[in-house]
Amino acid sequence: MNIQHNIQLQPYNSFKTKALSKLFAQPATVTELQEILSEYKTEKKLIIGKGCNLFFTRNFDGLIIKPEIYGIHILEEDAAGVEIEVGAAEEWDKFVEFCVSRGYSGVENLSLIPGTAGAAPIQNIGAYGAEVKDVITCVKTVEIESGHIQNFSNAACGFAYRNSIFKQTQKFVITSVVFRLSKSFTYIEKYADLNLELKNNSNPSLSQVREAIIRIRTRKLPDYLELPNAGSFFKNPILSKPEKEKLLTLLPDAPVYNAGNDSFKTSAAYLIEKAGCKGKRKGNVGIYDHHALIVVNYGTENGEEILSFIQDVQYEVQLKFNIELEPEVWIY
Ligand SMILES: Cc1cc2nc3c(=O)[nH]c(=O)nc-3n(C[C@H](O)[C@H](O)[C@H](O)COP(=O)(O)OP(=O)(O)OC[C@H]3O[C@@H](n4cnc5c(N)ncnc54)[C@H](O)[C@@H]3O)c2cc1C
Repeated sequence: MNIQHNIQLQPYNSFKTKALSKLFAQPATVTELQEILSEYKTEKKLIIGKGCNLFFTRNFDGLIIKPEIYGIHILEEDAAGVEIEVGAAEEWDKFVEFCVSRGYSGVENLSLIPGTAGAAPIQNIGAYGAEVKDVITCVKTVEIESGHIQNFSNAACGFAYRNSIFKQTQKFVITSVVFRLSKSFTYIEKYADLNLELKNNSNPSLSQVREAIIRIRTRKLPDYLELPNAGSFFKNPILSKPEKEKLLTLLPDAPVYNAGNDSFKTSAAYLIEKAGCKGKRKGNVGIYDHHALIVVNYGTENGEEILSFIQDVQYEVQLKFNIELEPEVWIY
């Protein structure tokens, strides 16, 4: 297995910051991955996919593993649906297109989310009222420490809003993911933006839903290949009842949704906007004009510059509303 040394990480993160990795490996099979894990036992490790949800502020003094395990295989099929295993390195949206073009429903709302299939369970990717947890039946992994194969049923994955056991523990390399998709499809009106986009079509097909989402996303989000970014930078904050009430006295129009267990979700984008940060810019970093949750790199190669900007935004929101914004993006 070829291990590279002092590799530039700029091509491997969508914020395009510069940093070196001491060691870098791209295993193409589970066996190759296990060999690397056993050979470099004592090295600090980081697993990456397409780098659309992380950036680097400094050199990485360890081994970065970028699995190159490909393949989309139908495992089972019956009249109602299909079970499909997808290699970790497969591009997420390629898999969505594969499903939609064959009439398999369940992932269409997650169209055009950048990244790999292997990273999808990590933060339980979600968009337009859908979350990937609803179609995952099994996540296949190799435990980093032992090199043992360990498969997780959906229930064992600990899925929650932008969270999973894999994100919590960071102990596993995901090698493939198994999905159960349906062969039937009925559009359910769940998400206002999408309903509006489809307002002239009362019974949209699977591919019409995908196309509508692609149109909305292309309009709303900056292309990370042209304006480097990592999508939504902050998670929507979860508030206790007293915190929610305090927020509503400061901002009576603040959107708050019941999140169960006496907790409430509010909108990070709304708070950023109300704190006066939408469109804010400092040097080469700023909040995207059309979307308050997206931090854009306008030209720096230095991750510290992005970090400093983010801290400023967090400070403003904390100062004005006493709410801590938690990054959704990984900062290394
Ligand atoms: C323009 C834009 C829009 C976005 N929109 C959305 C959205 O609508 N919804 C949403 O949920 N996300 C969104 N994101 C975030 C991003 O697309 C997802 O988090 C995606 O899953 C990242 O995939 P990746 O392969 O790039 O993962 P990376 O960024 O490489 O890694 C993300 C995390 O997963 C870990 N990881 C990656 N692969 C593996 C593996 N095989 N095994 C173990 N750990 C692994 C990494 O260590 C890291 O902690 C957006 C990002 C961008 C740039």
